[in-house]
Amino acid sequence: MIRYGVLIVGAGHAGAQAAIALRQHKFAGSVALLGDEAELPYERPPLSKEYLAGDKPFERLLIRNAAFWDERQVTLLPGRTAIRVDPTRRELVTADGETIGYGSLIWAAGGKPRRLACAGGDLAGVHSVRTRADVDRMIAELPDVRRVAVIGGGYIGLEAAAVLAKLGRSVTVLEAQDRVLARVAGEPLSRFFEDEHRTHGVDLRMGVTVDAIVGDDRVTGVRLADGEVVPAEMAIVGIGIDPAVTPLLDAGAAGGNGVLVDAQCRTSLADVFAVGDCALHANRFAGARCIRLESVQNANDQATVAAKTILGIEAAYDAVPWFWSNQYDLKLQTVGISAGHDATVLRGDPANRSFSVIYLRAGRVIALDCVNATKDYVQGRKLVLEAAEIDSARLADATVPLKDLT
Ligand code: FAD
Repeated sequence: MIRYGVLIVGAGHAGAQAAIALRQHKFAGSVALLGDEAELPYERPPLSKEYLAGDKPFERLLIRNAAFWDERQVTLLPGRTAIRVDPTRRELVTADGETIGYGSLIWAAGGKPRRLACAGGDLAGVHSVRTRADVDRMIAELPDVRRVAVIGGGYIGLEAAAVLAKLGRSVTVLEAQDRVLARVAGEPLSRFFEDEHRTHGVDLRMGVTVDAIVGDDRVTGVRLADGEVVPAEMAIVGIGIDPAVTPLLDAGAAGGNGVLVDAQCRTSLADVFAVGDCALHANRFAGARCIRLESVQNANDQATVAAKTILGIEAAYDAVPWFWSNQYDLKLQTVGISAGHDATVLRGDPANRSFSVIYLRAGRVIALDCVNATKDYVQGRKLVLEAAEIDSARLADATVPLKDLT
């Protein structure tokens, strides 16, 4: 049985960054990066953007090329699924029955897309957007697809809707809430994106419940609770992920909706760390609530903290959250966490397609959503970091740069 100094499970953003940081900070032991996908570690955000659109080849999504991993002596173990962890023996078992030992284990397994619980959820032509394989299947089917139903008006669903509308498909977005992006953004932002999608010909249906996916061999439509069938040759399900943490929880790690970690990304199991989408952590930008963040920023920053901690370098995860989304020619950049806000300030005019929504809690700035407003995004970061207390009228005055307000 092989035993690695550090074994990393999950070869996505967080797993790759953990390996990179270990070598950057001179970890001299053996490092292995085990993942259930076939590819070299790659960037996931372009999957619902440039890659789906055909604007970026897969090679340009690679986080590093093959030679990099070779030179850094990171052993890649693709196509393997970790199913069991024995924290006492410090061993992990894969679905193929292979046992691999570790000195430290970094769990970076992200999450798996939630599936529709209703009838027809497994029909051909029903897709989620999480992996290269998912998107390659969609791209292969597209020549025979005229109408697409996107289930879920979150970022990934809307990005896919934007790409497919641009590719000339007739797109319907089905959202259970009364506005898109309801879970992650304030109403002004939702309404702005709704208008944009409608302008591009996307049919948005809010407050609807999906009853079933219909079709014989493959999807022909989506039936709503009121009986209406929305015709579609392809359905895209973007209703969130479930953290991929079962083996760790089974091994006794504390957690639930994710694996609980401390500020050093340590789980409750000795020498087992968790980072990225699967890590449940107390985040001061969420008012110290325990949350999971699903972003590249969080994956990279937590991975670096775990790697440093393994090396005995002092580190604590306390980064300002940031995120982006591209739809049509719009670049949304967010900083902070808007959940829990009790007031919003609109800065700039959405009609100009360049504006920001500033989120406040108890009079303090907690987050910004900036649309084609990179200056606000860059300068607003400090306001979030300092939880700045600034009068709403001053925040709303787009003629004064945010940096002049503190
Ligand atoms: P992942 O990147 O998901 O990597 C986890 C890996 O572990 C996967 O390869 C998974 O298959 C594998 N795995 C799971 N279970 C096991 C197991 N038991 N054994 C072995 N391997 C396993 N974030 C942004 O900040 N901006 C964006 O614009 C943005 N757009 C996105 C668009 C799409 C389509 C998607 C899917 C995500 C997007 N995100 C975006 C989110 C971002 O990609 C994730 O937050 C990030 O990938 C999380 O990194 P991770 O390493 O934790 O998980």
